[in-house]
Amino acid sequence: MKLPNTAEGKYQELKRRLDEYVAACSMRHSEVRNIVLRVVCGLEQPFTAAQLIEAASVERVSTASVYNIIRLFVKARILHTVNRDSTREHAKYEILAGKSNTIQLFCTRCGRELKFSSKPIANAIKAYRVNNFDMHRFSLFLYGECKVCRSYKRLF
Ligand SMILES: [Zn+2]
Repeated sequence: MKLPNTAEGKYQELKRRLDEYVAACSMRHSEVRNIVLRVVCGLEQPFTAAQLIEAASVERVSTASVYNIIRLFVKARILHTVNRDSTREHAKYEILAGKSNTIQLFCTRCGRELKFSSKPIANAIKAYRVNNFDMHRFSLFLYGECKVCRSYKRLF
């Protein structure tokens, strides 16, 4: 499967992360994992398991393998779930960005998603120590109404 240059770079970076994880867990090498990783890099983010299953079926990867690999990719910190409160069926996955901290705004009316970064918020979270937990990275979700939905409400 041929990927555009940006996705190819992402694939190489994530494959290193996967290889490290596989070696650390003394697992055997699997070409199917690399194929699914390649498919993941070519997908629009975030994606559902069903979307990944469909895309991976072109490469003859079974549904059961895709579910197992998603679980492994989450453990290996390659993917993360963006909507944690959803059932497995509705869960959306996304490539976990290297070291960056993300703040996401979700509009509960139209489903629009906006990402942004903020140094003051990042610093406040980093300074916050709880239960002697060593934080490596964070992902923050803010729920509300976007500008478009709010202006629409004002009109009607
Ligand atoms: Zn909205």
